[in-house]
Amino acid sequence: MSHEEPDKFIALVTAKAEVDLRLSDFEPRSMLVTPEHHTERARFPAIDYHNHLDAQEPSAVLRVMDECNIERIINITMRVGDEALAMIERFHRAAPNRFSTIGWMDWSDLHAPGFFIRAVERLERLVEQGVCGLKIWKDLGLSLRDVNGELLQVDDERLAPLFEKAGELGVPVMFHIADPDAFFLPLDRFNERYEELAAHPDWSFHGSHFSKDELLAQRDRVFAHHPQTTFVAAHVAERPENLAYVSRLLKAHPNLYVDIGARTAELGRQPYTAREFFIQHADRILFGTDLVPELEMYRLHFRFLETADEYFDYPSHASRQGRWKIYGLHLPDEVLRRVYRENALELLK
Ligand SMILES: [Zn+2]
Repeated sequence: MSHEEPDKFIALVTAKAEVDLRLSDFEPRSMLVTPEHHTERARFPAIDYHNHLDAQEPSAVLRVMDECNIERIINITMRVGDEALAMIERFHRAAPNRFSTIGWMDWSDLHAPGFFIRAVERLERLVEQGVCGLKIWKDLGLSLRDVNGELLQVDDERLAPLFEKAGELGVPVMFHIADPDAFFLPLDRFNERYEELAAHPDWSFHGSHFSKDELLAQRDRVFAHHPQTTFVAAHVAERPENLAYVSRLLKAHPNLYVDIGARTAELGRQPYTAREFFIQHADRILFGTDLVPELEMYRLHFRFLETADEYFDYPSHASRQGRWKIYGLHLPDEVLRRVYRENALELLK
């Protein structure tokens, strides 16, 4: 009877541990040694086209901007009504050449008669007050119901006059419709945004009435129905996981721009594809951060866009976006100039 020891090599390649370590406590430190560049200032003056400054002190933000070469920030105010006008004024008074404001769609009286006409009049008033765009958020399509209790579709015909008016007035409409693909999937061990969704359970749209594909299809029909209106699809059109789709979208709709706000995690984990995407669509991509304006946050963006550094932390909110690191895109200067500033200037004129 043979009583052989298991083969040493087979034992080595089949060993596996059942590990009992809290995921929240797991913080592996990379042992990689590769070149690191700490970009203090943007290589060219940059316009942050997607930020939210309502809670910030303008003078403190200006100090950060001066230190890292941010020429202007577009504040997407989340205030409506008189509070929105006060916010426009606050940043205009602080530095008219350094701040601009995008207005927030006011749904507060959606159920009162005449809402859709009022929405058009409100846009006119906001533009008179100096806003450079209108932001429409994902409550449209996910939660807003009309007076009959029906979920409002993104391409609801009643909103068409609003989109037409934006075109007439020459201000872009920014859409943030839907969210990362993983937010529409069950929160289980296969979900790549598990920790983030655990920190923000209300960010999960698993089981939403309209699927993510349907929400984006509604939005994309709006781009097609209003060719005279310029649109900005925020967050890489909500599909940075699939840049081939975003590329097709940009080709199909010449009236469309995308911003990269809060999506460096997605872009930076596919550096070959993302670099091609930036080069191919250099005149349609807007630098935007969607994060609290701090030096380190901006510097990580510059490192991502400008250097070929490998495997570093992406700029993020506290709960992070996924357990991975990013790679720099090392974009050519002419692409950087367009993305940092020139494309935004097209939309601001
Ligand atoms: Zn935002």
